[in-house]
Amino acid sequence: MSACLSKLTLREAVHHLEAGECGSLELVDALLASIAERDPLIRGYLHLDPEQAREEARAADQARAAGRRGRLLGVPIAVKDVLNVRGQPCTCGSRILRGYRSPYDATVIARLRAEGAIFLGRTNMDEFAMGSTTENSAGGPTRNPWNLERVPGGSSGGSAAVVAADEALAALGSDTGGSVRQPAAFCGCTGLKPTYGLLSRYGLVAYASSLDQVGTLTKDVADAALLLTIMAGRDPRDSTSLDVPPTDYTEALIPDLRGIRLGLPKEYFEGAIEEGVKRAIESALEVFRALGAEVREVTLPHTPLAIPTYYLISCAEASTNLARYDGVRYGYRTPDAADVDTLHERTRAEGFGREVKRRIILGTYALSRGYYEAYYGRAQRVRTLIRRDFEAAFQSCDALVAPTTPTAAYRLGERLDDPLQMYLGDIFTVTANLAGIGGLTIPCGFTPEGLPVGLQILAPALGERVLIRVGHAYQSATEWHRRRPPLAAGGGRP
Ligand code: GLN
Repeated sequence: MSACLSKLTLREAVHHLEAGECGSLELVDALLASIAERDPLIRGYLHLDPEQAREEARAADQARAAGRRGRLLGVPIAVKDVLNVRGQPCTCGSRILRGYRSPYDATVIARLRAEGAIFLGRTNMDEFAMGSTTENSAGGPTRNPWNLERVPGGSSGGSAAVVAADEALAALGSDTGGSVRQPAAFCGCTGLKPTYGLLSRYGLVAYASSLDQVGTLTKDVADAALLLTIMAGRDPRDSTSLDVPPTDYTEALIPDLRGIRLGLPKEYFEGAIEEGVKRAIESALEVFRALGAEVREVTLPHTPLAIPTYYLISCAEASTNLARYDGVRYGYRTPDAADVDTLHERTRAEGFGREVKRRIILGTYALSRGYYEAYYGRAQRVRTLIRRDFEAAFQSCDALVAPTTPTAAYRLGERLDDPLQMYLGDIFTVTANLAGIGGLTIPCGFTPEGLPVGLQILAPALGERVLIRVGHAYQSATEWHRRRPPLAAGGGRP
């Protein structure tokens, strides 16, 4: 039994715990065993505190015996190293936050904790969530469980890899331009980025505040619905959080698509899409039709402007958000600086990695006097056009479906020396963040090389129920989300 516990979905784990078929300690131990076996290869975790996790599991088992209930009582979850969990390190994959420990819980963490969840460990990420491969981490790269020579995607690559390798039942991530959806697609998991403002950003370390959103990496859509139900809702500590009434998203887990109109954005099917990705998406469209959906073409004409717009806005916001890391308050401080300017300068020069520095410089330039209007102001106006494209498309359909990424997982190192190529790979994911809408990626097949392909579903703002319905109906009719890499099936050592 315990060998299989690490493969469970969250809901299955809850069911086993409630039925008394296993204890939380047994569940945590099963995951720790799986981590001990696989993580030396995958390197999805940056930090683990097994004793703490076991202690919390014991406490959960006792609480259950004493009659306490909670929707996630005794259920372990992995957390991207960008969300504050009280008492745990929070380094954002950066040298500059080395040694920093969180004094408080992020709101989403507090909400999960109130339901009894246990926070198993910190997952690897691109430094400050800047990247698409997890290679920009001060902790070294994570590997893709489907092929150890490939990247897991990024920036929530650690979260995606540990869920795919059965080293976690589910994980949290953050998505500013695709960082939940793209790694979920590369690793064959389910990734949900909710509408901007649906989840509180309090306690999420900021990269680009107008785009950042917490998201989930899970084994299926039903688990994403459960986590969203627990975490969503207004938080007085985040003024951008939306005042939505409590919603049970699991009610949208309906296994058919009758009456649903799905739009195919023409621009997302043009251009350089890998053949294996295209094939997998095309067969998914047949499944949608068989489930009763009507499929039609729509257009998002400003798509070609999305990458420059996203990289301008995100770098501009990052350059101000990251100004706080100066060696005074948080983490790393350069030794022996003679004066305060030298302290700031050297701490930042030594603490930040290459990609973060590149973006701070680009962002500072875009915001500087004389250039602000030409770059930042213009990008904001194009952002409005992109949002309007979606509004127009949603006039004639309930959701859009498209590839999550133009290709499957890159080889390690393949795009590191060519940042532009790296940025261009984000073309299908950055648009949802610019428009503020939700997006869901689900596994829909494999390329001939055996790498997972992700299908993306996009819905109007606060259309999470549609995302969940479409994703769940697909998963009710297919088995792709149940596939596990050979590594996790217990055989096939690479
Ligand atoms: N890959 C994108 C970037 O590098 C998205 C990152 C993210 O969503 N945090 O900015």
